[in-house]
Amino acid sequence: MTIIAVSGGKGGTGKTTIAVNISLILSRVRGHKTLLVDLDVDNPCTYTLLGVSLREVVHVKSFKPEIDELKCTLCGECTRYCPTHALVLIADKLLFLSSLCEGCAACLYVCPTSAIKEGRKVIGWIKEAGKGVLDVIVGEAKPGERKTDDVMEETLKYALKKLQPYDYVIIDTPPGTSRGIYEALKASDIIVLVTEPTRLGLADLKRLYSLTRGIGRPIIVTVNKYGLKGGSYRELEDFLSREDLPSVFIPYDNSLLRSYIRGECVIEQQPQAPSAQSLLQLTDKINEIEIKIKKKGLL
Ligand code: SF4
Ligand code: SF4
Repeated sequence: MTIIAVSGGKGGTGKTTIAVNISLILSRVRGHKTLLVDLDVDNPCTYTLLGVSLREVVHVKSFKPEIDELKCTLCGECTRYCPTHALVLIADKLLFLSSLCEGCAACLYVCPTSAIKEGRKVIGWIKEAGKGVLDVIVGEAKPGERKTDDVMEETLKYALKKLQPYDYVIIDTPPGTSRGIYEALKASDIIVLVTEPTRLGLADLKRLYSLTRGIGRPIIVTVNKYGLKGGSYRELEDFLSREDLPSVFIPYDNSLLRSYIRGECVIEQQPQAPSAQSLLQLTDKINEIEIKIKKKGLL
């Protein structure tokens, strides 16, 4: 079983489209039992592209203080230690602002009268769907929830316990370099970094590359929207050759664009399109790296 993380420094590079299409190639085109894990907990949309309905399987919960007013002496100690000002003393009342609470539990430990007890609040959900040889696990944060890394980590832990029947697990991470993303990259065997040929895309690629390089997994850079007019091609190609990074270029053709607008997958709708062929090349490159790391006994 091989775990492949698909990640990108900035939003809008087409990371989810690539993760979904790789999953479809591995499962429906090549017949491997595949699990797609969507960790883009603020905006999960893999299941929309796949046209599957999810069922809720787990409520992700976090600490929330429950205040016993009879024991509270209004000393204010908890308000001083609360890092997000979710506890506020106003006149003779201690107010708890739930939306600001990050569940660190500092208030629980500093209260001198044990007036704070451990409560739980729902911060998100883990959902599942199955579609033939392709299953999906999706993490979703409650709207406005700040603890998205916790929802990501719980979803990842849940998925990692279910690896047994799968040949491939594809993890679609959100953009950025947060703690939850780092955990997902560490859990992977191969990392696909998705970028676009713009100055901003290159800057974000460099930032994410500096994080992933330290993890020590093989990296494939996928340059999406290749051919976009006015792109920073020279700088991007210089960077790829300087770092000796294997790369695949996915052209921004009309088929890919049309599929994206319709919420469909190009590999299923237009398998002969140049973008679909490049996605097949990307999957081949993943397989080549897989063979290499298997030979080294790392898989
Ligand atoms: S759990 Fe942490 S963030 Fe929430 S109220 Fe207590 S101290 Fe503040
Ligand atoms: S630390 Fe405890 S006693 Fe003091 S204000 Fe907070 S809840 Fe009340």
